[in-house]
Amino acid sequence: MLKIYRATVLSKLEYGCTIYGTARKSVLQKLDPVHHTALRLCSGAFRTSPVKSLYVECCEPALELKRQMLSLHYYFEIQSNSNHPFHDFKLRPFLIRLQNARKSFIPVFFTRVQDILNDLNLLHLHVTPEPKSNFPPWGIPVVHFLNPFKTFIKSDTAGIIYQQIFIEHRQEYNDFIAIYTDGSKSSDHVSFAVIFPNTTFFFKLHPSCSVFTAEIAAVLLALEKISDCLERKFLIYTDSLSVLESLKSFYIHSHHHPLVLNVLHLLNKLASRDFNILLCWVPSHVGIVGNEEADKAAKLANTITNSTVPLTDFKKYTKFLFYTKWQRQWDTETDNKLHSVKPHVQPWPSLTTRKADTLLTRLRVGHTRYTHRHLLFGEQTPMCSQCNCSMSVKHILSECPNFNSQRLKFFKTNSVDLSLLLGKAPHVNLFAFLRSIGFYPHI
Ligand SMILES: [Zn+2]
Repeated sequence: MLKIYRATVLSKLEYGCTIYGTARKSVLQKLDPVHHTALRLCSGAFRTSPVKSLYVECCEPALELKRQMLSLHYYFEIQSNSNHPFHDFKLRPFLIRLQNARKSFIPVFFTRVQDILNDLNLLHLHVTPEPKSNFPPWGIPVVHFLNPFKTFIKSDTAGIIYQQIFIEHRQEYNDFIAIYTDGSKSSDHVSFAVIFPNTTFFFKLHPSCSVFTAEIAAVLLALEKISDCLERKFLIYTDSLSVLESLKSFYIHSHHHPLVLNVLHLLNKLASRDFNILLCWVPSHVGIVGNEEADKAAKLANTITNSTVPLTDFKKYTKFLFYTKWQRQWDTETDNKLHSVKPHVQPWPSLTTRKADTLLTRLRVGHTRYTHRHLLFGEQTPMCSQCNCSMSVKHILSECPNFNSQRLKFFKTNSVDLSLLLGKAPHVNLFAFLRSIGFYPHI
């Protein structure tokens, strides 16, 4: 149901939000009940469930957060496209003064985006411009690459075999100067290296860049350095098959990584200057010396290039930042019943039947018919006569001594943790336990 909602309703709610997002807050809020009702229906949550719990249970952020994310994506699309009429747009100072002076003045798109950038600490990050010129259909370059290791499967082949094949390959191409490139990415460090016979270049990229970006940046830098050389025959080695494939099958894809286009343009330019440049794939971590050196150099890289971040990497990164922000907000919701069961915002797998899913959602959120219907009818809070406290899912499942014997029978212990019963993989005997204490039909 969530998939259907996202595809058919949510996509329409979000369509054009970069424009209508400039509406007044009170107007935008009129959309929220649609979102909340849908999430409640999809998850089967009880009517009194808090919306923050609905967001986390369905792993679907609030509309406002989603609008901010989409606005930012659109802003970076404008920044990457120099043909866009708003590419060089600057807010006029008088408008900024007006917006600052009058709080009732609704901020325009660019002001809203500036606030988001400021909030996410992204003001100094720039998106890679899309190359202006594409290739005409008759001029699309065809790039072939060498692969002397084609017939070998990496898991079945010893490193020494690869090393021998590589030595033979180098003998065959000994009139080509060997250049090794490599990209590297860990959680907060993205970098690349290019190794020429006498020089090594290595640079750090922004942590939002993908490993693909690092690999292709290395090839691009290799070509830039080659264009200053007096020699004419070069062989560039990379362990990234995806980089080589995207250069080779350029004509298939409609949307291109900007650096792929830059590499192809540069290859074309160098070919017209009588350079003979070949590309070759090498397996990584099998002891091919040049590749190992490039790998080591890339990991050491500490100098930041004055580089930019491609749009696709940027979108993934901002999505990550928004989810981190949402997680930080969720971290503070320690009184929320769902929080103790699901402290991390992430999608959880659904159960095999809708009925089971609905029951589990209600237990996780902590709002069930039995414990919360009184809110709808203005009745008294149901009390546990044994313990003289108000009934809650937590009390019934893990606290009330009335059900100790059933707990022992189904969970093999008297002290059960709620997150263990209702977590990502709920306890196999959960529903049997609920039936035996008679709670099942009242959820
Ligand atoms: Zn009790």
